[in-house]
Amino acid sequence: MPELPEVETIARGLASRVTGDVIESVWLGSKPEPLKSAASEIVATLESKQIAGVRRVGKHIVFDLQNGGRASSPVRKRSSRTSKKEQPTNPSITAQWIVHLGMTGRMLVCKSEAELEKHTHAVARLASGRELRFVDPRRFGRLSVTQGFAAAGSEPLEVDSDRFVELFRGRKTPIKSALLNQKLLSGVGNIYADESLFRAGIRPRRRAASLTRKELSQLYATLQEVLREAIAAGGSSISNYVDADGEEGFFQFQHRVYGRENAPCLVCKTPIKRIVIAGRSGHYCPRCQK
Ligand SMILES: [Zn+2]
Repeated sequence: MPELPEVETIARGLASRVTGDVIESVWLGSKPEPLKSAASEIVATLESKQIAGVRRVGKHIVFDLQNGGRASSPVRKRSSRTSKKEQPTNPSITAQWIVHLGMTGRMLVCKSEAELEKHTHAVARLASGRELRFVDPRRFGRLSVTQGFAAAGSEPLEVDSDRFVELFRGRKTPIKSALLNQKLLSGVGNIYADESLFRAGIRPRRRAASLTRKELSQLYATLQEVLREAIAAGGSSISNYVDADGEEGFFQFQHRVYGRENAPCLVCKTPIKRIVIAGRSGHYCPRCQK
């Protein structure tokens, strides 16, 4: 399942490929699950709109749309920075197309003559002659349209240290569960929660309330570090996610605990433990993490 760094990477890849292009027409498949908004509403919102930019909000990909084809409002190529949570100040932005990839969703940018993959649920035909396609075999992904989209929780890469400490202080749940709570932080998933807790030397089952301010500050620092490293690693495998013939990428971020049950800790050689917290697996080093 793509987590924040993957979605950030995908959003940047899409931004560099389709910003400025115009959606000429939209085709939607017959499966109801991927459509969170009504099909007619999605079509009406997307058609004839120019893509002003693509960014990540939490684990969502957000396409900012403006009325297309007007010579009076040329779109400058935006920088690849997509993590801004705030509404763009551009007043001509009329709506957003929101894509959540779920477990197996992919957004492809391809030539219109490329063969339609099985499990394609949406196709947006672009004025450039290419197509944006949403493919999702397991159908946990969601497409919707809205205005003024914002995530429920704080943006992990934009929240400051004091706010981070406030979010978690006094919570009785395990710190791992709190990290995964999308109402607190938006977009942190299982892998990066485990990895940041390992680097901070904190066991996933510890109650958030038991963490000192210093430990929370340390966790803040390691979470930022892990997410930024993963985004940097994802940058080189962007094409794997958005090109028509791609498979899943992101090979370069080395997990230190996640998925390494019984393997020796990279720091102290103690076997990594796997536990289950709130139905999700958690991995930690019983010696390095207190
Ligand atoms: Zn260790």
